[in-house]
Amino acid sequence: MQLHLARFALWLRTAARQNSDVQAEATTETLRRFRILATFVVPVNLIYVAEFWFHSSGQESARHANWANAIGWIHAVMCVSMVILGLAIHRLYPRLEHNKIFALSLQILFCTSCLMFGVALSVADQMVSSNTTNFAMISLIVAMMSLMRPVMVISVFFATYLIFFNALAITQPDLNLVAMARSHSASATLMSIIASIVVWRQYVASVLLRREITQANETMADQQAELAFMATRDSLTGLYLRREFIRLAKIELARATRFPTDTGILMVDLDFFKRINDTLGHPAGDAVLQQVGALLTNGVRSTDIVARMGGEEFIVLLPNTSRDGSLAVAEKLRALVRERPLEIDGKLIPVTASLGVSGFSRTQQGAIESLYAAADHALYTAKQRGRDRVEFAEPQAIAAPSEFVGQQS
Ligand code: GH3
Ligand code: MG
Ligand code: MG
Repeated sequence: MQLHLARFALWLRTAARQNSDVQAEATTETLRRFRILATFVVPVNLIYVAEFWFHSSGQESARHANWANAIGWIHAVMCVSMVILGLAIHRLYPRLEHNKIFALSLQILFCTSCLMFGVALSVADQMVSSNTTNFAMISLIVAMMSLMRPVMVISVFFATYLIFFNALAITQPDLNLVAMARSHSASATLMSIIASIVVWRQYVASVLLRREITQANETMADQQAELAFMATRDSLTGLYLRREFIRLAKIELARATRFPTDTGILMVDLDFFKRINDTLGHPAGDAVLQQVGALLTNGVRSTDIVARMGGEEFIVLLPNTSRDGSLAVAEKLRALVRERPLEIDGKLIPVTASLGVSGFSRTQQGAIESLYAAADHALYTAKQRGRDRVEFAEPQAIAAPSEFVGQQS
């Protein structure tokens, strides 16, 4: 028994939390519906006002004339309150997010106005009949249209019923008919409360499901973006991988052919990098690679393409850059690497790099493979001539190394 009680208490707490989570959204939706409802109700009210006021003058008995007159007045009051509330909702609607309390108050005020309209109509009807259909019908319409938390629904409908219960005796002289109307309207109130709670629970479930789906979609989009990033980037340096570099370089060369411009390419290889690994360990070597990767990225234009070709070898494509420009960039990068030794445990580790440069002038055309081969050749020359230097090689005459050609896709 205690277990059941504990479970019920937990269910209640969860439901209460979900209800407050959803209330603001529910109020927005309800006010949207009420705005539409108001535009329909106002002309209907006006027709009733005209009809009943006209009707009241032609009644044979004073009781019927009073009744028709009262119905006309009730519609007139409802019409004015619908115009005021409809306009208030219309003005507040774009700023609902920032006026949650006001929005909720407006929702309750609108519901109460409609319910009081039902009360007034049925109380007036008691002058000529024992009918409470208007009260029941309007209660049910409000219950279905207004998305309200159960506590709020019970309070509003119960208060309305209490008013109706007492007001019935004012216009209905027959005590038996009063009792009957009270019991009918009690059933109508109960049914309205149940209907409203069912509609509310369904609405809460649909909102929570929608939120879950949105969340799942966002997570999936994030994961897809991460996968796409991982497929094109080196995990250590964050630079492009060889395959992505080739893809981007091909696009740039095609552009340079279509709108003739110079294109430069730099191969960067760290000097005696093995020694760093051997003396300071792989983590220190990794840190050097990360630092050099960042230096290269920050040392060139954002439109240049920097990639890690593998090991301690980097490549940079310089779109719209002349031969002299490429050589100047290469010199700048060489100096940057040399001037920024890495500090590990307070010890400065000197790092130098050799660079091979090549490029197409605007009158030349060719494939990335021949540019790469020429830069690789220039790099080889730089190593041969003592390292920590920049060398240039013309592209055409040199065949692409087979390992590079094998990588393209
Ligand atoms: P050289 O001046 O002729 O270029 O000599 P080098 O020592 O730089 O070149 P070598 O090709 O002999 O050695 C490259 C080294 O780079 C060997 C390999 O262990 C190291 N290396 C390759 N990838 C990584 C990596 O991801 N992290 C670390 N720490 N070292 C790497
Ligand atoms: Mg090296
Ligand atoms: Mg190397």
